Amino acid sequence: MEFNKIFTQKIESDWLEENQVSLDVLRLDLLHPVVSGNKWFKLKAYIAEAKEHGKRTIATFGGAYSNHIIATAFSCKEYGLDSIGFIRGEERDELSHTLQYAKQLGMRFQFVNRESYRDKEITKHQHTDENIYWIEEGGYGIKGAAGASEILHYTNIFMYSHIISAVGTGTLLAGLVSSSTSDQHIIGISSMKGNDSLNDAVKKLLLPNKLLTSFEILHDYHFGGYAKHPPELIRFMNEIYSEHQLPLDIVYTSKVFYAIKDL
Ligand SMILES: *Cc1c(COP(=O)(O)O)cnc(C)c1O
Repeated sequence: MEFNKIFTQKIESDWLEENQVSLDVLRLDLLHPVVSGNKWFKLKAYIAEAKEHGKRTIATFGGAYSNHIIATAFSCKEYGLDSIGFIRGEERDELSHTLQYAKQLGMRFQFVNRESYRDKEITKHQHTDENIYWIEEGGYGIKGAAGASEILHYTNIFMYSHIISAVGTGTLLAGLVSSSTSDQHIIGISSMKGNDSLNDAVKKLLLPNKLLTSFEILHDYHFGGYAKHPPELIRFMNEIYSEHQLPLDIVYTSKVFYAIKDL
């Protein structure tokens, strides 16, 4: 796959200066036009392992608007693998844009009702084809976190006292915790409402020697829940875009940025 250079963008604003905070944003979104940066870092070790083991197909899970689904479909096409998306919810008459695009990239879908979706082991047991390599929803897992632990190497890592990112499955955050030093503070902003299992989900991906690195997950910036985007959030995104030419998304980064300003 071909990638663009990523860099840190310095954000200058009155509210930062007043609080004597200097803020850089790592523009991982620029890595690739289709596969957003963090998604690629999480995926790549799984894809390498699938290839190594001679698997022909990658199967994974996601919702109808999942960037992980797009990233998987695109990467599989690039690496000559078939892809199957197990999609949460009933099949609709019309596919979401995400699914339409994933389909164009060659992904096949199986729609899984919400109850079955909760227990993914059942779905896996129903599809025991030995050519299938399974990737968890959102790329969750040790390999995903190991991939994500490379992300901070694209920054001048030791310059920062605080590192803040959005949290979905916790894989990205686990990668950041793994690659940070014990005096850095890692903050995750949950994109979901009341997901109490996140702390443990992150800890499961950390090596024992990293369990003491401090990280915290904040649950007060979900704006109503996953992918919810009330007018206040949209207004904020537009403001940030016009002030800093920084494009934010409604699911993750706008909520992180809002939290940074609020904190
Ligand atoms: C997907 C995504 C996340 C969530 O990552 P997890 O590893 O599932 O926690 C966070 N931020 C951005 C920008 C994302 O695209």
